[in-house]
Amino acid sequence: MKILMADSFDKSLPGRLSKFGEVFTEMERIGEADVILVRSKTKVTEELVQKAPNLKLVIRGGVGLDNVDKKACEAKKIKVMNTPEASSVAVAELAFCLMLSVPNRIVDAHNSMREGKWMKKELKRTELFQKTLGLIGIGRIGNEVAKRAKAFDMTVIAFDPFVKEHPIAKMVTLDELLAQADYISLHTPLTDETRGMLNGEKFAKMKNGVVIVNTGRAKVLDEDALLEALKSGKIGCYATDVWPSDPPPEGYALLSAPNVLMAPHIGANSNENLLRIGDKICEILSKGV
Ligand code: NAD
Repeated sequence: MKILMADSFDKSLPGRLSKFGEVFTEMERIGEADVILVRSKTKVTEELVQKAPNLKLVIRGGVGLDNVDKKACEAKKIKVMNTPEASSVAVAELAFCLMLSVPNRIVDAHNSMREGKWMKKELKRTELFQKTLGLIGIGRIGNEVAKRAKAFDMTVIAFDPFVKEHPIAKMVTLDELLAQADYISLHTPLTDETRGMLNGEKFAKMKNGVVIVNTGRAKVLDEDALLEALKSGKIGCYATDVWPSDPPPEGYALLSAPNVLMAPHIGANSNENLLRIGDKICEILSKGV
């Protein structure tokens, strides 16, 4: 079996995969590959599939399949698999890290110290304790965030049209969530229903100064309305790991907007998660292609 490792994975992976066959990383050898391993960077397009006459299996190390043209693969009878369970804890921890950083003003505190300032009086923190967290989407990652929020004594509510009951979160309508949440964390895939689902009309229904944490997908929010709501202070902070493209285009307005906390799509990037993704890939390959 010839395995093209097109993106970066845990450094132990090539060694672990060698029992299944030859592992290489040169994209120009795509024509030889039986299997291609990708994360987010490589796009498995129709054009790429055309260059890969031997390809039988695409494995995306991660949750979604946004970077794989499933139709093009299907047409060539190429199996497409991903590793959706592996990343839940890693992404949930980043969502929580972003959520905690905002009321604790960690970035302001750090930057002020670097600038030689002692802002003990100015840096007033607030607590997550007894605040309401609204989860939009409560699948694998949303569930992990709910567990962590409970440990912080937050009230957890959630909107998810496909989940009727949850052991921690009280399931509510989207309007109820928007009206009650102090913090909103987004955990839906990008679909026709979720694209732009948080727009100006929805922002108007939120509490003033609400914090929105996005480790889901950037395009779930309407960009122009978001910028407006950040400028007016309706949204107190938008803390995001996800972007319309990786990286966002040069001069992208959100990069210089007020009250934004940013990470470069590192939700799945924990060392532990990269190992778990590797475990899953080995498990898939051990069943053959
Ligand atoms: P999941 O499929 O387990 O959960 C998604 C949930 O969203 C499901 O419960 C589904 O019912 C719900 N949902 C679907 N449509 C909805 C709608 N219109 N309104 C509200 N809820 C809706 O997926 P997951 O593993 O929890 O991952 C969630 C998302 O996180 C992924 O789709 C991906 O976009 C994102 N993600 C980001 C990173 C990162 O690095 N930041 C990494 C992995 C995944």
